[in-house]
Amino acid sequence: MALIREKRFTQMNLSLHVPSRAPLFQEAAARRQCPPPSTSMATPASRSNQFRLADFERVAVLGRGNGGTVYKVRHRETCALYALKVQHSGEPAAAEADILSRMASPFVVRCHSVLPTASGDVALLLELADGGSVDAVVGRRGAFPEAAVAEVAAQALSALAYLHARRVVHLDVKPANLLASTAGEIKVADFGIAKVLPRAGDHCASYVGTAAYMSPERFDPEAHGGHYDPCAADVWSLGVTLLELLVGRYPLLPAGQKPSWAALMCAICFGEPPAPPACAASPELRAFMAACLRKDYRERASVAELLAHPFVAERDVAASRHALRRLVAEASSPSP
Ligand code: ATP
Ligand code: MG
Repeated sequence: MALIREKRFTQMNLSLHVPSRAPLFQEAAARRQCPPPSTSMATPASRSNQFRLADFERVAVLGRGNGGTVYKVRHRETCALYALKVQHSGEPAAAEADILSRMASPFVVRCHSVLPTASGDVALLLELADGGSVDAVVGRRGAFPEAAVAEVAAQALSALAYLHARRVVHLDVKPANLLASTAGEIKVADFGIAKVLPRAGDHCASYVGTAAYMSPERFDPEAHGGHYDPCAADVWSLGVTLLELLVGRYPLLPAGQKPSWAALMCAICFGEPPAPPACAASPELRAFMAACLRKDYRERASVAELLAHPFVAERDVAASRHALRRLVAEASSPSP
């Protein structure tokens, strides 16, 4: 089983498949004259069924995860930019494609098309988030100011409200799965282990996920009857994610400590509930964090309660959006 912070617990095949002899795309060597690139947000949905893999050229690698490799690609005809997620061989892309292609929210990364690959699998043509992951932003800019944390919280909670209302639970909320745009938007991505619940309020018994962001009842299922409330589990993961943005590093272990299974077990299941340092957070933020990170999932706040919390509902929307936009733009600009 893989651990820990970057990796998921998974029984899936993790072998890396990078096509070598038959590239998926021709490189963008002979670039044609293109108008200034537009991102895929503007692409009319009516085009989506007409796409083929051969219509795109690869521009860059955006990320590599357990599930696959994500490329920045350009549509040859329109020059519009997209992200293309190509699953590793053997990873079940179809379930992610099925969930994501039915979602339509400004807070959830949009799936424009699901394209068959030569290996018989599928690749997901996604809206490009031009600011990359929030994980990369915090890596480049360090701790977020409170105003930017409030904006990420508001938008990520809006995504969870949208998903949970449709009985979709994400189960892998973490900084690497929240994408940012330079316009100051946050979009939840990576539905590789998401589930559609048979009925609203159903519990889950799936323990696949990223250990470091798992709630106590997911990390130690035996102590909790073997099943858990997946909506409450998403709330905990978002709480850890927001705390990480606030302090600028993974918050449940001391800086520099190796995130082993045992260290995480102690921190998540046996430690005090995680909280921001008193000097680094307003009373509103501390109360908000405490509501997200109640160890007993039955006492944890719901997404609706958190959206109504003063830390989110009473934020200065323009100022917090501006703070986030600035951070993302700074993180995206080339280093001097
Ligand atoms: P993991 O198993 O590590 O969670 P994964 O293989 O399922 O990851 P994703 O999380 O979907 O893959 O994507 C990996 C990375 O690629 C993201 O963390 C992000 O940096 C980048 N990425 C993914 N989708 C996009 C997108 N639409 N726009 C910009 N960057 C993206
Ligand atoms: Mg991911």
